[in-house]
Amino acid sequence: MTDQHEITVTDADRAAARDDVLKTSRGTTAGGITLVAMTNLLGAVVAQAAFPRLDGFVEALVTAGLAVLFAAPLLIGMAGMAKSKGIQHGSMTAAQNRVMRDDARRQEFERRLNRALEMSDEEPAAFDVIERGFMTAAPNWPVELLLADNSHAHLDRVVTYLPEGTDLPGCSVASPDDCVAARRAQTQVFPDSEELDACPLLRGRDAGRCSAVCVPVSIMGRTVGVVHALGSVDVPVDDAAIHSLQTLANQAGNRLGMLRVMAETTVQAATDGLTGLINRRTLENQLRHIANDGGEFAFVMADLDHFKVLNDSFGHETGDRALRMFAETVKHELRAHDLACRYGGEEFALALPGAETHDAIEVVERIRQALRLATSHGDAPLFTASFGIAHSRDGADLKEVVEKADQALFAAKDAGRDRTCLDGHAMPVAPTLTALG
Ligand code: GH3
Ligand code: MG
Ligand code: MG
Repeated sequence: MTDQHEITVTDADRAAARDDVLKTSRGTTAGGITLVAMTNLLGAVVAQAAFPRLDGFVEALVTAGLAVLFAAPLLIGMAGMAKSKGIQHGSMTAAQNRVMRDDARRQEFERRLNRALEMSDEEPAAFDVIERGFMTAAPNWPVELLLADNSHAHLDRVVTYLPEGTDLPGCSVASPDDCVAARRAQTQVFPDSEELDACPLLRGRDAGRCSAVCVPVSIMGRTVGVVHALGSVDVPVDDAAIHSLQTLANQAGNRLGMLRVMAETTVQAATDGLTGLINRRTLENQLRHIANDGGEFAFVMADLDHFKVLNDSFGHETGDRALRMFAETVKHELRAHDLACRYGGEEFALALPGAETHDAIEVVERIRQALRLATSHGDAPLFTASFGIAHSRDGADLKEVVEKADQALFAAKDAGRDRTCLDGHAMPVAPTLTALG
C-alpha cells in the first residue's frame, strides 16, 4: 500500500546533472591523451626491439606507424564507449527535464488554486473552485469531496467532478470517524478493491471492481473530510494526479477553515448571544436596505411585562430562560423573510416586509396565544408581553417609525399590559383571533 507520494527535484539534483556532463567530457579528453602517450611509447619499444639497427628518421616513422596500429582499435573502442555514455546521459537529462517540467506545472497549479480560493468569499464559491481544481488535478477520474458540518457528525457530499463516461465515486462513508483516510490523517491508495487490505467501503460498488485514492481534508488541524477519487484496476489514479489532489485537499482545508471562522465571527457580530435573534444594529442595517429598495414593512415593538418582578422572584437564570422562550415563540410564528430582533434587555422588535398593520395585528395575536400556551407548560413562570405596531409609511425614517411603535407600546402598557396597540390609537386593538378567550 502506498501512502504519501512526493516527487521533488531539488537544486542539488540539477547540479548533479550538470556535473555529470562535465565529468563525461573531461574523462573522454584525459583518456584520449593517455592513450596517445601510451601507444607512442609502445610503438617506440616495439620498433626498437624489432629493428634495432634503424637510423633516427626511419625509426621515428616505424614508431609512429606502430603507434597508429596499436591505437586504432583502442580509439574505436573508446569512441563507442563515449557514444553509448552520451546516449545514456542524454536520456537521463530528458527524464530530469520531464520531472522539472512536471514540477513547474505543479507549482503553477498550486499558485493558481491558491489565488482562486482566496477570491472565494463563501463556501459555495470555494466548492466551485474545488470542482474546477479536480478537473485540472485528475481530469480522467471521477472525484468527490465529502465534508463534515460544524457538528463533525455527518459527511456531506459537497463537490462532485464527473468526467464523461464515468460513474459517481459514491463513497457511502457516513462520518469522518468511519473513514480510514480521515482517521489516519494520511492519504490512502487502494490499487484493487478486491485486495485483502482494501477499504471495505470500496466493495460492492455499482461500478464493480475498482481502485481508489482517499486524501484527508483537515480544517485547523482537525480532519473533517476526504477527497475520494475512483479509478479502474487497469487505470488507477496516477502519481501526478494524487500529488495534485493532495495539494488541493490541503489548500481547500485551509480556505474552508478560514471561511468558517469568518462566518462565525460575522454571525457573532450580527446576533444576540442569548436568544440567537439578530441584534439592533443588524436590524437597522437590513431595514435600511429594504427602505433603499423602495420596500415597506409593518413594524412591531414588544416588551415583556413586569419582567423585573419575574427576575426578582425566580432569579436571573429563569429570566434568561423566559427571554429565550419568547424568542423561540416569535421565530416560530414569523415567515422566513420576517425579521426578529432582540432590541435590548427585555425589548424586542419585529419587521414584517410587505405586510400591512392588520397583518401585523394577526401575527402579534398569534404570538400572544402561543406564548400563553408555552408558559403554561411549567418550564418557565407565566409571563406576558405588550406590543405596539406601526408601519414604515408612518414615519419619514426608521427612527420615526420606531418612535411611533414605541408610543403604541406605551399605550398598551397603560391600558393594562398583555395586549397590542396600534400607532395613533390609545386603545388596544380588538384581538383578531380567539387568543384572549
Ligand atoms: P414593564 O412591564 O413596565 O415593562 O416592567 P418591567 O419590569 O418589565 O420593566 P423594567 O424596565 O422595570 O425592568 C426590566 C427588567 O428586565 C430589568 C432587567 O433586570 C431585566 N432584564 C433585562 N435584560 C435582561 C437579561 O438579559 N436577562 C434577564 N434575566 N433579565 C433582564
Ligand atoms: Mg422595557
Ligand atoms: Mg418590560
